[in-house]
Amino acid sequence: MKKILYTLALAVTFWSCKTGSTGAAKSNMVEVNINLTDVKDDKVLVTVTPPAIKTDEIVYSIPKTVPGTYSTDNYGKYAEDFKAFDAKGTALTVKRIDDNSWSISNAKTLKKITYLVNDTFDTEKGTGFGNDDVFSPAGTNIDAGKNFMINTHGFVGYFQDKLEVPYKVTITHPETLWGATSMTDEDASNTADVFKTSRYAILVENPIMYSKPDYTTFNVNGMDILIAVYSPTGKFTAESITPEMKTMMTAQKNFLGKVNSTKKYTVLLYLSSMAKDDAHGFGALEHPTATTVVLPESLSKEKLVESMKDVVSHEFFHIVTPLTIHSKEIQYFDYNAPKMSEHLWMYEGVTEYFANLFQINQGLIDEAEFYTRIADKIEQAKGLNDTMSFTVMSKNVLEQPYKDQYLNVYQKGALIGMCIDIIIREKSNGERGILDLMHKLSDEYGVEKPFNDDELFAKITSLTYPEVGEFLNKYVAGTTPIPYDFYLAKVGVTKSTEKKAGNPFLKGQTPYITIDKATKEIIVRPDVENEFFKSLNLKGGDKILAVNNKSYNLDNIYDLITESENWKENDPITVKIKRGAKEETIKGTVKLPYEEAETFKATDASKDKLKNAWLKG
Ligand SMILES: [Zn+2]
Repeated sequence: MKKILYTLALAVTFWSCKTGSTGAAKSNMVEVNINLTDVKDDKVLVTVTPPAIKTDEIVYSIPKTVPGTYSTDNYGKYAEDFKAFDAKGTALTVKRIDDNSWSISNAKTLKKITYLVNDTFDTEKGTGFGNDDVFSPAGTNIDAGKNFMINTHGFVGYFQDKLEVPYKVTITHPETLWGATSMTDEDASNTADVFKTSRYAILVENPIMYSKPDYTTFNVNGMDILIAVYSPTGKFTAESITPEMKTMMTAQKNFLGKVNSTKKYTVLLYLSSMAKDDAHGFGALEHPTATTVVLPESLSKEKLVESMKDVVSHEFFHIVTPLTIHSKEIQYFDYNAPKMSEHLWMYEGVTEYFANLFQINQGLIDEAEFYTRIADKIEQAKGLNDTMSFTVMSKNVLEQPYKDQYLNVYQKGALIGMCIDIIIREKSNGERGILDLMHKLSDEYGVEKPFNDDELFAKITSLTYPEVGEFLNKYVAGTTPIPYDFYLAKVGVTKSTEKKAGNPFLKGQTPYITIDKATKEIIVRPDVENEFFKSLNLKGGDKILAVNNKSYNLDNIYDLITESENWKENDPITVKIKRGAKEETIKGTVKLPYEEAETFKATDASKDKLKNAWLKG
């Protein structure tokens, strides 16, 4: 998974991931019908025909969580009007056990169950100040006649102890909508699709997005790629982002080498209007052969492509871990009583590190940009708890206080990957790095062969060097903060500063504005100065009512931040403010605040050979 918070609190990247499991198929089947044609009150009817049930009671559950999200989401909360029937259509007694599970009596006679599903996009609060929304890329959307985001775990559940039974899912849909997915539609009709999977976990790994057909397909080194886009106003098309996606995915395949054997890969991009009833959780969720991405439609083309590069490459690298290399907690995932693994530093951190390293390795970004990203990660990690054991955090990530530290997987987690990479490069005279370690781990373990959580460090040490083991024990399991300068010095890289244009409303993670809690108005903070406010003669305490004739307050502050990302130096701007009781309109031009930012620079030429092996090897 990767989350991007375009928010007042943080302009941060978050991401999420996901995994599979094994098992032999039985002859029985769970048959599901999802009706997208007759949507009533924004709800979709789901009908489930069970396999033969041999017990008097049976429990049907919709997931509490799914792999890769590392959060408790209770997808069952969005199902209602749950009914069970026998062959004669007589209702059986149903008891709701909790948010996600229903117990059905007289289960031997059970013929079908029905329920209505509400979508999660509608319910997202999305103020960005930390909430328990279902992360949009793992969520569901029901927008009759226009778009359905079918994250299958939001619509389809499983019968207790029947996770290994095959599924046949029939989706009836309007002829105007087309379902984009990596699964194969086994029905020729234009109004019904039939998808079969060998077990529940595979179904969960296969999202489907229905919308007016807008997609491209292309092949990269033997892999078929499908890119499908839903853009509510038609601002973006699949065609418009395909060249950049193709370049990037080709570079990823070249970087990865032999690890990846996926034949088909689908990118589902949902662009949100950011209206109250639309998605607000930005980022993506990974699957073995697909990724769901949700981003704001208001982004500029440049920003959209940049976000897509970062997000899609991250999700794609999840094919290495956890989708191939993972622990038993992930292999035998329990959708309603999940156990977490200790190794988020690897699943999310190494993945995020690769998503940056491959870009410099394949020439998509230059050295300066790579160092800026590393410096940003160090800066953002500083805002989080640097003395919390990463393995303890990972193991307990569903609970506080660990939950709030989750986003450090994209910051410190990636930096852990970098340090291990540097240690291996140094010890092997530049010949090997962390990618080589991941190749070896994927030979050792694999999609069907999980590791025990507590044996991973020893295994990595035996495949690399004692120094890597010491690093893992001291800085990943241990609580000692990592001395990044020490590791970067090994490749001749040291601290430096640069001036860069910042956001008018945010300095790093610190906002230049605040909120009047009572009125939701946006206020210029009196205690900080910035060039943008100064050039428009805005003063501390001024309330910003509208910018460029669009009104803003707490409810749509997201939009303001996102819009401001598109502003260029000297663009004309109109700001309506309230100073005291008096409203006035100010016309001027945009002056972006320039900030001194820390970054890194190669300063020791004697280490060039090792540095080049690290970045270009
Ligand atoms: Zn991820």
